[in-house]
Parts: sequence; structure tokens; C-alpha cells
Amino acid sequence: MARIIDGTEISRVMRAEMAQQVAALLAVGVTPGLSVVLVGNNPASQAYVASKTRACETLGMRGQTLNLPEDVSKDELFAVIDRLNADPAVHGILVQLPLPAHLPYKAVLEHIHPDKDVDGFHPQNAGLAFVGDPRAFVPCTPAGIMEMIRREGISTRGKHVVIVGRSLIVSKPLASLLMAPGPDATVTLTHRHTPDLASFTRQADILIVAVGKQNLITADMVKPGVVVIDVGQNRIPDESSPRGYRMVGDVDFTGVSEKAEAITPVPGGVGPMTITMLLANTIQAARQLHESRGAQR
Ligand code: NAD
Repeated sequence: MARIIDGTEISRVMRAEMAQQVAALLAVGVTPGLSVVLVGNNPASQAYVASKTRACETLGMRGQTLNLPEDVSKDELFAVIDRLNADPAVHGILVQLPLPAHLPYKAVLEHIHPDKDVDGFHPQNAGLAFVGDPRAFVPCTPAGIMEMIRREGISTRGKHVVIVGRSLIVSKPLASLLMAPGPDATVTLTHRHTPDLASFTRQADILIVAVGKQNLITADMVKPGVVVIDVGQNRIPDESSPRGYRMVGDVDFTGVSEKAEAITPVPGGVGPMTITMLLANTIQAARQLHESRGAQR
């Protein structure tokens, strides 16, 4: 049976470390602050946003949500972002996705000042991360997966990492982090047009799946001893749950656990790590801003 990689426990340890970093900033008069912009009232987005701001507050940081109506115009949204860009008490800005269809999400993300872009979605941060610049804000999910791998003592050097999915927010930045000097993995990216997906996944020493399809990966598609990171989050109806649904990943957890050496569960795997890295990026933003102000004096 596979060892469970417990993202909740790794997050707990990391958040205890980060509480010390927050305390050091508070001691020099800086309260790291995250502002989350939520457009409309999608219940899943509302729940994500609430957990992000709550996590900030438990660490002694400032967490603020700005709730805008579903029909807010692009100019009104830009004005809100301008105000946050200019506010010295705001270190991190996050616009919760998805946005309503009338709002151009790429232009919105590019409107956030790169120094406050704690989601790491601005092209300037994507570029800095790609060249391995430590000032980059790395998107939270790939950053969380890298921390998880490192803290679990999973060696990536010379290993074949197969990633399923090619999204900008998870898979592409993750591929670049894993193949960089240090992690030194050999990386294969696969996607919806990859023929015979199983012929790739069976080669993986480490398999990372970020698609959004329940049971995409079954036991016959992995080799014995593989390490599996399941990023997928799929809501499936469940009358026995008070919410009427439960979350599952992209991997057939029961079947694949029989063959894998280690595996992340859903929930309790990658999810908590993502929020933890958002806190880490906000602390990094506050520290960088504080240091740059010191340098200007
Ligand atoms: P996306 O929709 O942007 O990308 C999905 C990718 O899957 C695409 O690149 C597509 O080519 C690929 N794909 C689709 N069908 C496929 C198939 N049959 N075979 C191989 N590849 C296929 O998704 P995303 O934003 O990267 O998210 C992926 C999943 O991860 C979703 O379930 C999402 O909810 C979840 N997610 C979880 C977290 C977390 O914190 N746990 C964070 C981000 C995303």
C-alpha cells in the first residue's frame, strides 16, 4: 500500500514556520496584507476566497475580500485594482478566477502590479520564474507541489516526471521548475491530444496529474513504485455528505495506491499546499516591498 503524502500536515509545519516570518515583519511595523477581489457570487469561488482570507488572519496577516457585483464593468474593476496597486498596506492582490465572460481575464491579470501579483499569473512573473529569478512569484499550486516533493524527501534528480495537463497555472510552470538545475528531472508534458496516454504514464517515476477528470488514471496506467501527485479537483454528487457532494481527484486512488510507493489524497493533498504557498508569496511580497523601501532611504 502506498504511503500517503499528507498535504495538510506539511502545510501545518510550513504555516508554523511562516508565523515566525510574519512575527519578524510585524516587529518592523509591516503587517503582510492580501486583498482578494471576488466578482459575482459563485459559491465555489466564495468558499475558496473565504479560506484564503481566513488562512491569512490565522497567521496574523491582513486578509481582505472585495466583493464586486457580477455585472461590474472592466473599467470599474480596473479602478479597484489601481487603488490596490497604489495602497502601501496591500502587499498581495489576487483576482479570483473564473471571471464572468464579459471581463477579459488576461487583461485583468496583467493590470495587477507585478510586485503584488502573488498568484504569479502576470507575464512578467511567468518570465522571471522561467529564467529561475528568485524575485519571481511562482504560481501557488506548482510551488506547493515542489515544496511537498522536497519536504517528503522525494528525489527528482534524473527521474522521469510525467505531467498530464499543460495549463499555464499548474503544468507549464511545474515542468520548468522540475527540469531546472537542482531538481534536475527529465520531464514529459502530455495533454488532451497525446495519443496513447498510458504509454507515457507507465514510464513515470513521478506522475503528476492536473486535468479535472475523475478516474483518468487507473492502476493499469502506472508502474509499481511510482510517486503520484493528484492535482485534480472534481466535485461528485454524494447524498451522504451534508454538502451533497464530495471532492475526488483525477486518479483512481484505491487502485493506484496498491501499486504506488506514495500518493497524495484528494482532499488533503495538493489543495492545502496551494493556499499555504499563497501565504508564502504574500509574505515574500511584503518583505520585498519593505526591503526596497529601505533601499530607497
Ligand atoms: P485546465 O482546464 O486549464 O487544463 C486541463 C489540462 O488537461 C489541459 O492542458 C488539457 O489538454 C488536459 N487534458 C484534458 N483532457 C485530457 C485527457 N483526456 N488526457 C490528457 N490530458 C487531458 O486545468 P487546470 O487549471 O490545470 O486544472 C486541472 C485540475 O486541477 C482541475 O481539476 C482543477 O480543479 C485542479 N486544480 C487544483 C488545484 C489545487 O490547489 N488542488 C489548483 C489548480 C487546479
